[in-house]
Amino acid sequence: MSRTLKRSLVALVVLLGVVVAAAVLWRGPFRAAAARPNILLITLDTTRADHIGAYGYARARTPRIDRLAREGVMFERAITAAPITLPSHVSLLTGLYPFTHGVRNNGNFSLPAALPTLATALHDNGYQTAAFVSAFVLDRRYGLDRGFDRYDDDVGLERRGDRTVEAAARWLDGRTAGRPFFVWLHLYDPHDPYDPPERFRAAFADRPYDGEIAFVDEVIATLLDRLERSGTLWSTIVTVVGDHGESLGDHFEITHAMFVYESTLRVPMILWSPGRVPSGQRIARPVRTIDLAPTLLDLAGRPSIAGAEGRSLVPTIRGNGAPPQSVYGETYFPLLYMNWAPLRTIQDERWKYIDAPTPELYDLSRDPGERTNVANREPARAAALGQALRALTGGRRGAMSERQIDGDTAAKLAALGYVGASSAGVAATDDDEPRADPKAMIGVFNRLRDANAAGQAGRFEEAIAIAGDARSRDPKNAFAAVVLANAQFAVGRYRDAAATYRAYAELVPTSADAHHRIAICYARLGDPDRALEEEDAALAIDARDADAHNLRGGLLAAKGHTDEALRDLRIAVDISPSRAPLRVGLARVLMTAGRLDEADRETREALKLDPGNPDAHAAFGAILLARGDAEGAVREFDRSLAVRPDADDVRLDFARALDKAGATARAQAEYRRLAAGRDTPPDIRTAARARLR
Ligand SMILES: [Zn+2]
Repeated sequence: MSRTLKRSLVALVVLLGVVVAAAVLWRGPFRAAAARPNILLITLDTTRADHIGAYGYARARTPRIDRLAREGVMFERAITAAPITLPSHVSLLTGLYPFTHGVRNNGNFSLPAALPTLATALHDNGYQTAAFVSAFVLDRRYGLDRGFDRYDDDVGLERRGDRTVEAAARWLDGRTAGRPFFVWLHLYDPHDPYDPPERFRAAFADRPYDGEIAFVDEVIATLLDRLERSGTLWSTIVTVVGDHGESLGDHFEITHAMFVYESTLRVPMILWSPGRVPSGQRIARPVRTIDLAPTLLDLAGRPSIAGAEGRSLVPTIRGNGAPPQSVYGETYFPLLYMNWAPLRTIQDERWKYIDAPTPELYDLSRDPGERTNVANREPARAAALGQALRALTGGRRGAMSERQIDGDTAAKLAALGYVGASSAGVAATDDDEPRADPKAMIGVFNRLRDANAAGQAGRFEEAIAIAGDARSRDPKNAFAAVVLANAQFAVGRYRDAAATYRAYAELVPTSADAHHRIAICYARLGDPDRALEEEDAALAIDARDADAHNLRGGLLAAKGHTDEALRDLRIAVDISPSRAPLRVGLARVLMTAGRLDEADRETREALKLDPGNPDAHAAFGAILLARGDAEGAVREFDRSLAVRPDADDVRLDFARALDKAGATARAQAEYRRLAAGRDTPPDIRTAARARLR
């Protein structure tokens, strides 16, 4: 080659380079982004596709999500694997169906440690990873924290979306530049109860659920605007997906989890990445949320998650690949909570089959609301889809990745409305065993929801009446048993409550908490030996049940077995170090053992954790009194009584401290109050009378 030719070729290459660069510049923000794009995964809890503007809902106020859909790819029929938060998110992050990863419900299931996720895959590829979740159901104890450098689940029970976004924004501001990030942001607001922030209430007075979605849209806009201002947005793949929908009364289901109709299985799913995916594309064929993680990895130029059942949708987006052949969804909620039949469904582009005691077949092209069951009219089609379903699942129930549920977890789940968090103690039984069809039983379930709400609102007799009635009609219903037992317990019917909890324990043999609750009943009935037996049963099921250790320790201390008691109480604190009451219980027994320094340490720690805790102040006062600091003791007892004025034992200590501090008149006033009090326990009354002058 002559030098001239070589030079002109070089010139041509340079020239071409300039042209290419100009083209990239001309495309402005739509340039091909960095080799490893950032990924922002936003999961919308409890969000129906058909309540988003882009999905055709005229009354929506979702401008930011709609814009993402306009500028990106919108999947019109994205189907979640389960209408339940934890199983759905596990499927989303693993690309696996629930029968493979084994997380079939909230609460007492967790992601097995061996399974890779989108987070572990991206972390292994050098990504900085962080998750910001908004509800306890996604707490790290359920295993989704793996692969995240930061897993922010500091939510109490739940956290409003704006606060979760604020936490995410702070992390994004502080991360190391030069490495791509993967952020998972979970927004819980549309979950019931529907209670949007003040400024959305008037506009959505008649449909607060839509108000919650409008709020979530605004929260998303805040984060995307921040990313845009920092120059990060255009190198970020943004994806928005629902974990499940909400029935809002469809098929008589109020919320979600009991059924597998489209109201709860069909979710919004949008992919936004200018330069990587086309803008304004709509994909009408059914796809799955388990396809999202493989799709994101494909777009990032990474291999898919090993073993994933989901498939990259990039070929579908580019028009050269078929979408998934079978789209599956399930709910084991009816079985796990109610002992009813689980539901499994499969759909193709037109037909949807639900495997239930009375099987269902719907022609979604004509009947998107699934109102007319045509299984009898189309037996061959129903049989073929039933066969496809069995082929997919192997005709088996599949994996059950159970974890134990302790009292603390059960209480938090109950406060979020997941009462009776049951267990797969039914795992030993067969799916083919005849069970009630959830669609025939939805009325019972709705009544139990009412009973549960009545119990939580303090209307215990109403709860007892409804739950008792439901239980007489459906004796193997674990949810009915636990709602009834809780209400009986609340009104002090401990013998009845113990019997009902016992029935619950027989229905759910893996529940340690059931035995713990029976133990509380016996303790209240003045039968510590039987209470101890029940705590032993609880600890045989779950040796890490802090509440069982705590009560066992208290019972042993009362019997004078101090060393054994201290061992249990210490274990309880070690299991749940952030629960102030456990430390106070330990401190009390340490005091009786004369170990004041250790008691002092535990009490101070309890007060650090919960500064207003009346028991901690009372215990601290008792320690100060034992050490001769009467004035300090007076101060602590005073603080305790300010919170709980009817604690007569504390008042007696208070009076003694006043005496020691020389405040004789005040002390006498307290003794008189105790001696005259109608509800004063006899031993305290006697002690108070003895001090009267
Ligand atoms: Zn959810």
